[in-house]
Amino acid sequence: MRKAGTEQRSGCGPLITPWSEQMRPLRQQVFERIRAHGLVPRVQLAKDLGVSPASVTTMTQELIEAGLIAETATPAAAGRGRPAVALGVRAGAHVVAGLKLSDREHTAVVVDFAGNMLADDAVAREPGPATLDALLTSVEELLAKVCAKAGIAPAALSGVGIGVPGFVDHAEGMVHWSSTLVEREVPLASAAAARIGCPVAIDNDANLVALAELWFGAGRALADFAVVTIEHGVGMGFVMNHRIYRGAQRLGMELGHTKVQLDGALCRCGQRGCLEAYVADYALAREALTALNLNHRQSPSMTVLLESLYQHAKAGNTTARSIFRRAGRYLAMGLANVVNLFDPALIILSGERMKYDYLYAAETLAEMQDLVINSGRPRPPIEIHAWGDLLWAHGAAALALGEVSDRALDGAREMAAQ
Ligand SMILES: [Zn+2]
Repeated sequence: MRKAGTEQRSGCGPLITPWSEQMRPLRQQVFERIRAHGLVPRVQLAKDLGVSPASVTTMTQELIEAGLIAETATPAAAGRGRPAVALGVRAGAHVVAGLKLSDREHTAVVVDFAGNMLADDAVAREPGPATLDALLTSVEELLAKVCAKAGIAPAALSGVGIGVPGFVDHAEGMVHWSSTLVEREVPLASAAAARIGCPVAIDNDANLVALAELWFGAGRALADFAVVTIEHGVGMGFVMNHRIYRGAQRLGMELGHTKVQLDGALCRCGQRGCLEAYVADYALAREALTALNLNHRQSPSMTVLLESLYQHAKAGNTTARSIFRRAGRYLAMGLANVVNLFDPALIILSGERMKYDYLYAAETLAEMQDLVINSGRPRPPIEIHAWGDLLWAHGAAALALGEVSDRALDGAREMAAQ
């Protein structure tokens, strides 16, 4: 601790890296504003960003010369004479693909630079982990198929985003562990880029659902919200100040592995008492085997087993119901923890298991409200978005769009500097 009165040479206040999330260059802010608006006049941009119309004109001129945006005449207001000019992203400037890899199938979309979907497709796969080589082969096949549908060659893609379940480091492009891969510590982004021949960005699949909601869905106008996914495991994507929050080592937000029981059920991560060990597929399946009087040797596939358990619950089987109900109560506890920690404006529940409505029955959600600290203020709303893999792939495309536009904006800066 410095003595009072000594000279303060090291400064004070947060040391923010230039061009970081908090201090993005004006060029980037202008471009992102145009993309978010769809079409926007220059005068509106200057007003929104709090800068002079001259600065906006300089920036937009650079972006037009770089081929990233274009002017469009919008119809004039009745009797107001000349048509107004608005700016929009040039949709044909780049094309990207987004893929969601999962245990059952891989899904892909192709979108243009303005985010319009051009094509989608899916390929089934053998359940269980695959080798990196086999995984990349199926990625390549799927890309060829979806690009053919979009009427482009795979070589025309400016970037590809890939969503993978498991522990994924987006910045390093590494998959530490995934249920879709045999190997651990896989540099998936660079390996896929080498195979496909264009830049590849990867992320945890739950982050990509959050990104899809942020770019195309209910989260567009929200600064802080959570997306909780229930599939083979339990995941969470969290948007903080309009950005995906990943943590210092990009491995945060592992809601599925937060502990809800001391010395509790064994989780596939190797630890005990994780939320996932009470809510995910394998947790339900473990109990379903007993409830449906099956032994492990005659156990059907996970999907068949869960479907059967659900049908029994629907038909009034109290044991089957209680299994879902118990999983729902644990989910309520997990969601209440999210609210108590982060106070999000909205929680979106997503993923394939949302078809099992017992998980989020009214009584379950009411229980969650009881576990949230009582401040007298309204609790965040919970929405169910059971949109499926296509939405997740759309999030992967948004990841690719973000990376491609960052590179293109760097290019525009260099062009302008010459
Ligand atoms: Zn765990």
